[in-house]
Amino acid sequence: SVAYFNGNFIESDEPALPIEERGHQFGDGVYEVMRIYNGVPFMLDEHLDRLYQSATAIKLPLQQDRESLKHTISELMDKSGLTNLVIYLQVTRGIASRDHLFPDCPVSVSMTAKPFREPPAEARENGVSVMLHPDERWENCYIKSLNLLPNILAKQAAYEKGCFEAILVRDGKVTEGTSSNVYMVKDGSILTTPLSNRILPGITRMAVKQIAGELHIPFVEAYFTPEDMLRADEVFITSTTSEIMPVVRINDEEINSGEPGPVARALYEQLKTMIQRF
Ligand code: PLP
Repeated sequence: SVAYFNGNFIESDEPALPIEERGHQFGDGVYEVMRIYNGVPFMLDEHLDRLYQSATAIKLPLQQDRESLKHTISELMDKSGLTNLVIYLQVTRGIASRDHLFPDCPVSVSMTAKPFREPPAEARENGVSVMLHPDERWENCYIKSLNLLPNILAKQAAYEKGCFEAILVRDGKVTEGTSSNVYMVKDGSILTTPLSNRILPGITRMAVKQIAGELHIPFVEAYFTPEDMLRADEVFITSTTSEIMPVVRINDEEINSGEPGPVARALYEQLKTMIQRF
């Protein structure tokens, strides 16, 4: 598949980075994962807004403006020959002799374009299992930082238990998934963790908030506990790649009937409509 690194289009398995690239050596950078449906990027401006916010938060001087990034994304999309794809975009503090202090060099921009792999149809039909895991991350989870070690360890632990995702818990409250936002439905209202430095402001979360408004479903941004989740009518998670995924089991305990619920279903249908309108 095709990729991009600092001005050049390459194959994604071609060597491109010098050893002393700060993304490689320090994880000193930020990223975005964007979905393209039928040749049309979904909520691209929102993803780029978040990229600039992440870059600013880590004092990374991203000189490439929005139009230039959009141009590269569109060139990469064309070169990929794909119409349904995922674009990964990474920006780092550049290539410089290893030193913790900020270097004086241009930032690196890299991208990959990969065919979109649908989550298993079975998962969407029947819902997925999740496990609870302590949120061991830092205090700035609103930044989409390359440092994903706690997320990776939690996700692997979930996988080893046969679970689709690990739901992170901090001070007794649910924050988010390792790569998703988390919601519960109770008495007709959707509850989700409020935006703060403890979670990533998901772009799909933004879409779900809008859709809930369109469907006249109350969207309440409030903390909840794992126990609240177990007593919920429905639980679901969202992300760019899994869209809206129903959760039916937490640590082997069934939620409600153990089947996906009507709210997650209705939101998913409405998301598909929103994608088609894009
Ligand atoms: N939370 C975390 C920690 C994530 O890594 C992600 C995406 O990968 C999300 C939430 C969902 O964000 P989005 O809907 O923008 O993909």
